[in-house]
Amino acid sequence: MEVEEEDRIGRFNCCPSRLISKAQKYYFAKVTTDPLRFAFNKKVTVHPFIKGLPLKPNEIQAIWQRLMHTPPSSFKRTAYFHIPFCETHCLYCGFYRYAYHEKEAERYIEYLIRELKMAADMPFVSAAPIHAVYLGGGTPTALSANLLFKLLHAIKRYLPLANDCEWTVEGRFYHFDKEKVKVCLEAGVNRFSLGVQSFDTQVRQKMGRKLSKEKVIEKLKYLKTFDQAAIIIDLIYGLPYQTMEIWEKDVQTWLDLELDGVDLYQLVVYQGCALEKAVAAKRIPPPADLAEQADMFALGRRILKEAFCRRLSQTHWGYGYRERNAYNLLVTQPSVCLPFGAGAGGWMEGYFFYINNDLKHYYQSLDEGQKPLAMGMQYPPYWLLLKEIESGMEQNACPLAKLSQKYGVDLLKAFSPLLAQWEEAGLIYLENGWLKLTPAGEFWYVNLCQFLFNWFQEMVEGEDEG
Ligand code: SF4
Repeated sequence: MEVEEEDRIGRFNCCPSRLISKAQKYYFAKVTTDPLRFAFNKKVTVHPFIKGLPLKPNEIQAIWQRLMHTPPSSFKRTAYFHIPFCETHCLYCGFYRYAYHEKEAERYIEYLIRELKMAADMPFVSAAPIHAVYLGGGTPTALSANLLFKLLHAIKRYLPLANDCEWTVEGRFYHFDKEKVKVCLEAGVNRFSLGVQSFDTQVRQKMGRKLSKEKVIEKLKYLKTFDQAAIIIDLIYGLPYQTMEIWEKDVQTWLDLELDGVDLYQLVVYQGCALEKAVAAKRIPPPADLAEQADMFALGRRILKEAFCRRLSQTHWGYGYRERNAYNLLVTQPSVCLPFGAGAGGWMEGYFFYINNDLKHYYQSLDEGQKPLAMGMQYPPYWLLLKEIESGMEQNACPLAKLSQKYGVDLLKAFSPLLAQWEEAGLIYLENGWLKLTPAGEFWYVNLCQFLFNWFQEMVEGEDEG
């Protein structure tokens, strides 16, 4: 770290007493006998985020180009490819963007490969290996076998993939046929992340998923027969119609199938989404409330712990040797993420970039020979420290004493009012310079992490409006 940066971190600009009164209102937890269910009134965000300085529209492209012509730093590197099409619109989803049409998808993949080729010879991209590639969306498995083939082979040709690169294709089982599976495996894909959400047929189909429980299980067993890639599924807790018994069966079914990994996600009802509207119109019953979701989290955690599954992060669990969860782990650490495709986000060297999610603008920018960037942000100088805090919180144990030494700032002292209060509330405990989460703290980890970010930024930058 440069001296100037260290110096900046070392100087706190806020008035601590004002910050504490703000913390009492926003960051302190309720001290209750049941912190798992009641420590806070809500989850404040889905993922922790670092507040940065938005770039002016006329400087975004120039900064991107400058970075691309610079040799990379030594961070581990990932590449994210966004496929913004889905075959159906799931009721709870906040990521749906475009319906899948073969002609539009053909055009999109042609432009996506063009975007990839533009980056291929840039020193920043070509000079160091990529350790994890992730095709997300939307639904990458909605692409035809032919389009998957074109895209996967272009990625292999134009990116310097590390020998042990983790290569994930995300998707769902609907229309994910044998031909597509083979195309993925032959190209080198070694991890499938598939949305199951719930095995229960009624829960699934009420949420807009097509296949029955039996069909999903049949497809998973079939995928296992290839024995060439980690198979990970997503499960969501708190869905309408999903009782505690159904949730227990969901987690148990994953165990019984002996798959490589599972992600347990809390249902998030996005404002204005189809699920919110359907519940408001009383077309479907409301989802579980926060306290019920907390119970579901605790049940899932207990089942997986008792089965000796490996905790890979707050939401990801693995079993056996195959699941590494490399991409998801790397993106919570100091790292580089190269973004490709309409709606993709990525970061590098202290900057965050977001690619235009509107296809018309996406195509137009590429026709003009430009990276189709819609937004850019400069992270604060201490962003690496915040990423390391996030990484520790994801792993249930944040090495505050070690980070204090590394970054030249006494974090145990800087965070002491929050740490003392959260310890009293039963969310964390301190042990040999580590901040460790209790089971209740795990459920509220996203609040705790975001509040550490906010507190630190407010100490260094001075307070914002709150
Ligand atoms: S959950 Fe997946 S498949 Fe369903 S609408 Fe969202 S992105 Fe598309």
